Amino acid sequence: MRYLYTNFSYPTEIHDVVKLFFGDVQLCDTDTDTEFSLTENVNDCEYSYVAKAQTATDVQRVCCDGDDILQTIRLRKRFAKIAMYNALSALTGRKMPWGSLTGIRPTKLAEQLSKEGLNWRKTFTDALGVSDVKTQLVADILKTQGDLHRHRSGCADLYVGIPFCVSRCSYCSFTSGEIARLKKYVEPYVATLKREIRATINFARERNIRLDNVYFGGGTPTSLNASQLDEIMYCIDFVPSEYTVEAGRPDTIDAEKLEVLKRHGVNRISINPQTFNQSVLDIIGRKHTVKDIYDKFYMAKEYGFDVNTDLIAGLPTETYEMFCHSVQEAISLGADNITVHTLALKHGSVLKETNYCGDADVVKMVDFARESLYEADYAPYYMYRQKYMAQNLENVGYCKVGKPCLYNIGIMEELSDILACGANAISKKIVSSENRIERAANAKDVITYIERTDDYLEKKFALFR
Ligand code: SF4
Repeated sequence: MRYLYTNFSYPTEIHDVVKLFFGDVQLCDTDTDTEFSLTENVNDCEYSYVAKAQTATDVQRVCCDGDDILQTIRLRKRFAKIAMYNALSALTGRKMPWGSLTGIRPTKLAEQLSKEGLNWRKTFTDALGVSDVKTQLVADILKTQGDLHRHRSGCADLYVGIPFCVSRCSYCSFTSGEIARLKKYVEPYVATLKREIRATINFARERNIRLDNVYFGGGTPTSLNASQLDEIMYCIDFVPSEYTVEAGRPDTIDAEKLEVLKRHGVNRISINPQTFNQSVLDIIGRKHTVKDIYDKFYMAKEYGFDVNTDLIAGLPTETYEMFCHSVQEAISLGADNITVHTLALKHGSVLKETNYCGDADVVKMVDFARESLYEADYAPYYMYRQKYMAQNLENVGYCKVGKPCLYNIGIMEELSDILACGANAISKKIVSSENRIERAANAKDVITYIERTDDYLEKKFALFR
């Protein structure tokens, strides 16, 4: 085991940077015999950081306006991470695609840096160590988002969570359950959810909050049957600007359900292949065929839905060539949106529990996807990064011209207030003046959700009062 010592008040920030290079590293209380250390020294308004990684050292200094506490914390974190990253990079001779950036949305940081009067591109490449390719990706995303990239005051999006799936994917850490196993809870869940949706919409009306986009996610909403979906959708008694339903698993889609979605005004659905290679689908626990993906995609197109599709780079046994095939198939299908995820090994997933460590060349994979999608006239329009992602990469949504999914921009770029209903759903309120978000989470599991909806409703309403 390797050890890291720091007197810095935010040790996890430094820990995250060391983990980029060395995987598991433990924080310890003294700096004797540690391989890595970061020391913060304060002198009036000047903070300095001395990072040591075995034989390599880096020193950073920053002056802060003591009155702006939040900004001071931000700068302290930024410069401490830069010092640690530089020392580790000098020690190993390695550079990371996102440099010292961990845990922050790059598009948000670009905006924040601009507000600080800095040239964000120069800061990304020269100070933070972000590669030219990733810096350009951020610039392209901001360009596609254009005017959509702003907080819509007085509006909120409505999220409806259906935490059931037909089977468990091996990379998934969501608290969704297999619908066959949870059968006896499905009807009570639908009844509770309907009640919560109605109460939430009434609350929004009373508070003059305009509900804008609606998103059904999960889980797999289409693992419910057509009449259950119909009942839930009857509760949405307003016309959303954009109405999206995740029909992620092709084996849950049929004409009857698509009829229901169409009748209720849904205009966008997700059909998520993840891969177009049958052997990989089988290994990751998706109980459908590659043919199902094509069949259900064309069926959805007959109903006139815009279709989002997801792919994952780094799935077990999928080689670079196999991944390239998946990208080309998604493009030739003509999906309106293609989101390219990088595999994240999250706690609670089968892959993590079975110690899968992933050796796929994901950097090459996401590079191929980006270049191919650019060539096919898709533009990147949102991005987010998660913990435990292979090679600290990113998830990027690409869209055809004029086809961005607005809900995705709002949620992923943290621009929209969200009123969320259902188990494991999280309502969010953006406090833009303070650059932070307040949250109210519903119960994670279905049983507690059914039993204690009123408590959670009250928490949610308190957030928006
Ligand atoms: S379909 Fe989605 S939510 Fe369901 S198990 Fe697979 S990844 Fe998880």
